[in-house]
Amino acid sequence: MHSWLDQQQLLLSKQITQIKLPHAILISGVESAGKSELSQWLIKVLSCNKPENVQSVLMPCKSCKSCLLHRSNTYPDHLLIESGGKSIGVDQVRQASRFFEKTAQLGHCKTALITAAHNMTVSAANALLKTLEEPNPDNYIVLLTSELETLLPTIISRCFIIDIRPPVGEKLLAELKLSGTDPFVNLSQLKELSDPSVNEKYQNFEHCFCTFLQKKPINLSEVLSLLNDNSDSVRWLEKVMVKLMRQQYNWLEGDHLLNEKVIWAIYQLVLSAIKQLKLLMQANKQFIFEKLLVDITVVINK
Ligand SMILES: [Zn+2]
Repeated sequence: MHSWLDQQQLLLSKQITQIKLPHAILISGVESAGKSELSQWLIKVLSCNKPENVQSVLMPCKSCKSCLLHRSNTYPDHLLIESGGKSIGVDQVRQASRFFEKTAQLGHCKTALITAAHNMTVSAANALLKTLEEPNPDNYIVLLTSELETLLPTIISRCFIIDIRPPVGEKLLAELKLSGTDPFVNLSQLKELSDPSVNEKYQNFEHCFCTFLQKKPINLSEVLSLLNDNSDSVRWLEKVMVKLMRQQYNWLEGDHLLNEKVIWAIYQLVLSAIKQLKLLMQANKQFIFEKLLVDITVVINK
């Protein structure tokens, strides 16, 4: 659990102990801020039969029936609603309403978690309102979002909001116990910084893309699939280019891979591709990436 979640854990533990925990909790924060970790902890504490108090923070006991069932992912009184990158429809929300109408199988409380709540359709959000308006004393619904501003105000007003704000810059690197080699580190990189497997993926992405830019032998289809099969590729492309430019101007340590003119020309191509990807809803991602690689090849071969 990230150390910046301590305050939230303390607050929620206090509310649980005083039996004042709101029935609808909306956890907001950027990607990798710890929304999922915090919600998992909360749900496990709520369902645990005898949570332990560790310095005013409640912790699941890990040995009661509820904890053991959670561990094997077979706890019956919890419902998970995930968007899987798509929109969350009214049927999924109605499933939650029906779930809350039934009595708890273990006779304790019932919890539901909606990840990426901003992916709810308007009708799904309206259906959820009904559930939020008539809370049952032992039902808790937790919503996660990285885009609070896109949620219906009527949903937001019925939820207790927990806004996770991880530290930034040097402070963040210190929290994550990383050496501060990049003075330009920012929150958009949290995913790479806090998740070693994402970081590894990013390093590989950067390596392959720079290999391609330097005309060293690399399979173009490998570069293309790195761009295509990765939800972060657009952000990463921009990040690699910005890094190369910072190195070029000696703001960052590192080799000058290409000359200034070439880097600038490639950066413009990348920006224009990113613009197309963002603007066109139905943009053919693969086609835009293919064209980008071809255009870059022309520039570096000049
Ligand atoms: Zn337990």
